[in-house]
Amino acid sequence: MALSKDSISPYDAYFAAILGVDQATTPSHKRTTMIYDVHSHNYPTVPGTAIVQLTPEAFHPQTGHFYSVGLHPWDIRDDWRTQMSKLLVMALHTHVVMIGETGLDKKNSSTPIDVQMEVFREHIRLSELIRKPLIVHCVKAFDELLAIRKEMKAQRPWIIHGFRGGIEQWKQLHRAGLYMSIGHSYNPELIKTIDPEHLLLESDVFNDIETIYDLVSSTNNLEVSTLKHHVASNIHHILTHI
Ligand SMILES: [Zn+2]
Repeated sequence: MALSKDSISPYDAYFAAILGVDQATTPSHKRTTMIYDVHSHNYPTVPGTAIVQLTPEAFHPQTGHFYSVGLHPWDIRDDWRTQMSKLLVMALHTHVVMIGETGLDKKNSSTPIDVQMEVFREHIRLSELIRKPLIVHCVKAFDELLAIRKEMKAQRPWIIHGFRGGIEQWKQLHRAGLYMSIGHSYNPELIKTIDPEHLLLESDVFNDIETIYDLVSSTNNLEVSTLKHHVASNIHHILTHI
């Protein structure tokens, strides 16, 4: 059964009682100006240039790296509440700068969509409470995604990673306050159209962020160094203006 919008998450009480909402961690952003890969499942060669994606079970932070930690819709197990309880602790680490990847997948996940939605809502509650953005995996579930954002009155930035859609969908999501990150498979027309002030790039599982920059650079005729500057500044903005 999906949680109703009025249900009280046990995590709210946990943080309010133990930490106090005012002390909910605002991460140290001293070096987040260097991040030009918003989502990677691999460690970057230069620490601090990518947000490394890990599950709660795999989170063993290394000096100088930034992380996102969460439950991918493919990785939700029957004991997801135990997985979430691990995430609660990890999420407070100062080098965890985003929550996720989390989200909805109506094509490739073996977990029923109502369970995915319940787990997604818990990530949203956590993101809102500790003021860290969400990195979101969404496949064939954008209507549900937008409905949940509205229903929960979520204010934190959400980044849709691996965005492959066109300009109309990009605009619709942008209007709803979402950011889109682009990786290996993308719509070239979109890259030509969107303002570099809104561009986010990622290596995801491929470990080849320089290739992505070369591809996008040749598509929109911007120098790689200029692109990196824009993307790093956009990521820094999202992480610090929350
Ligand atoms: Zn990913």
